[in-house]
Amino acid sequence: MKSIQCDKLVSFLDVRLCLSEFSEDESANGLQVEGGKTVRKIGLAVDACEYVFKEAAQKKIDFLIVHHGLIWGGLKSVSGVVRNRIKALLDSDISLYACHLPLDWHPQYGNNSELLRLLSIRKMGEFGKYHGKNISYWGRTAKELSLNDFTSRIDKTLGTRSSAVSFNKKVRNVGVVSGGGWFAINEAEKYNIDTFLTGEPSHSAYTLAEEMKVNLVFAGHYATETPGVKAVGNMLKKKFGLAAEFIDHPTGL
Ligand SMILES: [Zn+2]
Repeated sequence: MKSIQCDKLVSFLDVRLCLSEFSEDESANGLQVEGGKTVRKIGLAVDACEYVFKEAAQKKIDFLIVHHGLIWGGLKSVSGVVRNRIKALLDSDISLYACHLPLDWHPQYGNNSELLRLLSIRKMGEFGKYHGKNISYWGRTAKELSLNDFTSRIDKTLGTRSSAVSFNKKVRNVGVVSGGGWFAINEAEKYNIDTFLTGEPSHSAYTLAEEMKVNLVFAGHYATETPGVKAVGNMLKKKFGLAAEFIDHPTGL
């Protein structure tokens, strides 16, 4: 079985995932909890939580990469849920590595690039300004689709049940922001977007979309943020020959 030193893997990921591009991110991106020195098996998950950590221990994972980490803007105290989570990691010597905004934006492995690729939408340009930096892309389908065809494509591809609100007859120019990205609806007119896809439903997006004649599709925060970590896992398998496994813990939200 192939292995790699933990510090070598961390330095590789910091550069490959372009962490320095998002130094303002509220998430403490990079190594959040240090485990054992040698990494043989990688785990990938969306959320850092006790369920995922226990599964990881059972699967003999020594290095876990997540999109939503444990440390957001600094830890205030290690008690309650936070204590239990960190204890689960330390007890099994698992390292925790978080990658938040860089993994939404990343042109190769990011959630949004992967969503476009998986849904056969050709990437056209950047989209979704968040704290002054685009974290996503908009793209064009090969041919005009109905909103129904588009949502069934999403549901089949991501294993989700999306909800949609129709304000336009066609789906062709699609703006995508994984997770809780409703704020980007404001950019729809600028890019001539007819359909906006994000994760979490937002009441606030409704009247804006109505007046801009833009379809709304909400495919789930979780479901739209699984593609990024999976792509990173595949890259590490190829690059270092490490074993890698995705730990699924869907929220349905
Ligand atoms: Zn998220």
